[in-house]
Amino acid sequence: MIIGINCGHTISGQPGSGAVGYLNESNETRRVGKSLITLLRRAGHTVYDCTNDYAHTTSENLAEIVRMANERELDLFVSIHFNSGGGKGTEVFTAGGRSFTEAEAVCKTLSAFGFKNRGIKDGSGLYVIRHTKAKAMLVEVCFVDSKEDADLYNRLGADRTAQAICSAICGNKTEEITLTQYEELKKEIENLKPMVYDYIDENMPAWARGTIEKLRDKGYILGDENGRLGLTPEMIRMFVVLDKAGLF
Ligand SMILES: [Zn+2]
Repeated sequence: MIIGINCGHTISGQPGSGAVGYLNESNETRRVGKSLITLLRRAGHTVYDCTNDYAHTTSENLAEIVRMANERELDLFVSIHFNSGGGKGTEVFTAGGRSFTEAEAVCKTLSAFGFKNRGIKDGSGLYVIRHTKAKAMLVEVCFVDSKEDADLYNRLGADRTAQAICSAICGNKTEEITLTQYEELKKEIENLKPMVYDYIDENMPAWARGTIEKLRDKGYILGDENGRLGLTPEMIRMFVVLDKAGLF
């Protein structure tokens, strides 16, 4: 996937910076967001950092974030925030409060840590949700002004929080396959070129890419120290067939 990650507001102390309570939103969104970017890249996704550190005003900051997000064709835009205002827990804002897999999964993985699951909310009024072209979600990890939330977050740390969001984004998606698609796939599988497939690039057949990416995301395929996968056509065939059978 091509993903845009925004680490919330401007940096701490600048115009347009985030909420401050037991946690500093600007600082923590950067810790979580930067870690998330690394993890998503490691999982094979193309990630663009849509973070704006300095702006004269909040609206300038928001416009710059959206400009960066809309500069490319993203499959998903994720804005990381921490909430404030006297509540507790995790919530995710989407356009019209529409539910989609990644948004549901973020609520689930973060609440599994013990944050209250406040669910998916209507983010139509939020600038970055309203103006980004891609499927978008704004994640409020927890509340900076809740001691309970801040304590839990501090125990977990930014990296584990990022890991949870990463696994929610990467997710396990089993696709249904029709008989016609199966016949087409069979033909493509038989025509696979006899070479070693080292990377998920243009040499990797398009029909195998999703499966191989998924296996790498899940850590089933690790590759060597240079990131080479060393997959033979036989291995790719086997993986794709097993994936279509819903085994991964
Ligand atoms: Zn915020």
